[in-house]
Amino acid sequence: MPFYSYDDVLRVFQVIQDMPCEVSEELRGWRWAEPPLLSPYSVKINASDLSFGCKTGRLAFLRHYVRAGERAGESLRLGSFVHRVIATATAEAKAILYCRKPASGVDFFDMMMQGMLYATEVNSLPREYVRVLNMLWRRAALTYSSAYDKVLELSRYLSLDGLVSRVVPWICEFPIDGRLLGLNRAIRIDALVPPALIIEFKTRKPCRDFEITLAGYALCFESQYKIPVNHAVILYLVFDDDMSSFRVYENILRIDDGVRMEFVEKRDLFAQVASSGVDPGLPEVCDPYCPYLGVCRDGD
Ligand code: SF4
Repeated sequence: MPFYSYDDVLRVFQVIQDMPCEVSEELRGWRWAEPPLLSPYSVKINASDLSFGCKTGRLAFLRHYVRAGERAGESLRLGSFVHRVIATATAEAKAILYCRKPASGVDFFDMMMQGMLYATEVNSLPREYVRVLNMLWRRAALTYSSAYDKVLELSRYLSLDGLVSRVVPWICEFPIDGRLLGLNRAIRIDALVPPALIIEFKTRKPCRDFEITLAGYALCFESQYKIPVNHAVILYLVFDDDMSSFRVYENILRIDDGVRMEFVEKRDLFAQVASSGVDPGLPEVCDPYCPYLGVCRDGD
């Protein structure tokens, strides 16, 4: 990990099978047109707004009403870079399999490692980011080269499309429309394993707000595809201080009634604040990663 092989997918589905999750029918995304899922406001909240812990909803006021400038701190910048590397490495792996048809896993690995130089702007990156890029890219090359060998052993006569989906089982930055649930039109799920396993990558410390946001994604997915999403995954990537190694923690979650209702409450608070134009004030404690700390807490 963090790159899932087909075996990882089977392992996760096994865990999920042993984690039953009851969901009330009125809290399924396809019931978006009725309370409690019906969004009472016309303003659309960014799904990413919900991943920050802002108890008064001031974040929505600043972003959607004041349109204040935000500044991402180092943690958010690293997170965004990690997402980009994972998505680019995934796309590069698929491109190699589709277009260059490597003869073996070793052949694939070599092509993948050469591809890193072309796929990203290495020269313009800070040294620590180059280390992160190298680690993640190499991990993708190793995971998928081994998976490729396994698939070749299985059969040399698989269709190309089938082979690629078996080696690289997820789709990165899968787009969904959040408008039926009061969110923005262009939500991008970090990774989707068909038919309905949603995976998010996080480099910040675990918090309930991530799970609430994930419930929002699951509801939006259900509203579009009418497929129940009872579980989802957050992969936490933790880098050491000098970015020379990292660990991955896999959190498989139930998307149950409780977290769905927390999503509804937070969405409605943010939408109400964004619509009213009234500053709700600061909460006692701010999210240490919030991009508006410079606006709200300057001088603290
Ligand atoms: S800095 Fe605090 S009050 Fe301002 S948006 Fe962020 S969490 Fe909310």
